[in-house]
Amino acid sequence: MIDISKLSKWYGQFQVLDDCSTSVAKGDVMVICGPSGSGKSTLIKTVNGLEPFQQGSITVDGVSVGAPGTDLPALRARIGMVFQNFELFPHLSIRQNLTLAQVKVLGRTEEEASVRGLKLLDRVGLLAQQDKYPNQLSGGQQQRVAIARALAMDPIAMLFDEPTSALDPEMINEVLDVMVGLAQEGMTMMVVTHEMGFAKKVANRVVFMDQGRILEDCAKEEFFGGASSERARDFLARII
Ligand code: ADP
Ligand code: MG
Repeated sequence: MIDISKLSKWYGQFQVLDDCSTSVAKGDVMVICGPSGSGKSTLIKTVNGLEPFQQGSITVDGVSVGAPGTDLPALRARIGMVFQNFELFPHLSIRQNLTLAQVKVLGRTEEEASVRGLKLLDRVGLLAQQDKYPNQLSGGQQQRVAIARALAMDPIAMLFDEPTSALDPEMINEVLDVMVGLAQEGMTMMVVTHEMGFAKKVANRVVFMDQGRILEDCAKEEFFGGASSERARDFLARII
């Protein structure tokens, strides 16, 4: 479903992605880990066209992301993205956060969008919060709303960029539980995270990045089974 081939990207002189190739099949849950600054965020942002790149190719469900003429807004509408800092609209209620893009981008009626949005809000356990504003919710609750908002667009895949790293420890699991549920339902996911418990539970693939390169791209069992590179083992030893 997602194919990344020989992808390189520079910021000026600085090469942030160096010949990265990997692919994600429908239903795959890929965990991407690696030290800070290794290019993880940049890699997943290129997938939905949030970051341009200079070399290589990316196709998502048959659509070439970098090709001139590709309708990037249409592509982004099909791929859900959840960021570290929730990125809810602060001036909109939770319900409005859930419905806005459905109406503006998918052309659903307010009624349709509301039904779909509230169903997903219920799913993440926050139906009672629909009339509140983001700053009235905890970080964990805001992140669950952000996930529900992405799901309301009926995405073909979900990208997560360190979705729990801005959360207080006691809120991490409520977000991971939602993500585990999604994975178990067969959602195609690329997840940048250092939550190795999540990786062990639901990932089928683990990618390890360092200095813009993909150093490991293997089955979870292989990655955690000690067959990985010294660099990756070193990294694991430090974060677990
Ligand atoms: P990670 O998510 O693994 O921490 P990033 O993809 O955010 O890494 O960043 C990779 C590298 O690219 C870092 O060295 C970072 O400083 C650099 N970088 C990220 N965004 C920009 C930018 N807009 N301009 C210049 N350098 C950037
Ligand atoms: Mg990052």
